Amino acid sequence: MPTALTLCGKTYREFAETIERFHGWKAPGVVIGGFMVDLAQEHVGTGVEADAIVETIHCLPDAVQLFTPCTIGNGWLKVVDWDKFALTLYDKRTREGTRVWLDLEKTRRFPAVYNWYMRLVPKQELPLDVLLGEIERAGRGMLSSAPVRVNRWHGKSKKGEVSICPRCGEAYPVVQGGMCLACQGRGYYEQR
Ligand SMILES: [Zn+2]
Repeated sequence: MPTALTLCGKTYREFAETIERFHGWKAPGVVIGGFMVDLAQEHVGTGVEADAIVETIHCLPDAVQLFTPCTIGNGWLKVVDWDKFALTLYDKRTREGTRVWLDLEKTRRFPAVYNWYMRLVPKQELPLDVLLGEIERAGRGMLSSAPVRVNRWHGKSKKGEVSICPRCGEAYPVVQGGMCLACQGRGYYEQR
């Protein structure tokens, strides 16, 4: 009964509009991510201050930032670049939480989702509304979850000692060495 469905405390329609406004379009990955956050939140429980870790830079960080208080900027969301479609919400005091992932075996019952995730069908041949319809039907039926205890990447990353780069004059963390990374030739840009 998709009409009665609420996700992350919103109706499905509000949920989808929230994604579109923030992410630019109803990206299937963010929609699935919303279902994942919703499930993880239910396990972790309301009233628990939860931090988040996501295991891909694609789509999932936006789902967490939209539907939890955790953002990259406030330090409560960590992103590891493993390209796995999984996330963990955990109690920041006990570090106990729930990992939720897109369970490929379960998505076989929802071929559009399976084909999209495995990139088996060219985008033109998989209309967005068909894919989104199947995601909505699948809901939690395409996800699995397990209790976990987080033992790395928890807590806020602390800022270390700051120095002034002798070459460019910008502030940089001392741990990078005698000059900032850019002046060591290890930056991402060159001066034009
Ligand atoms: Zn410098």
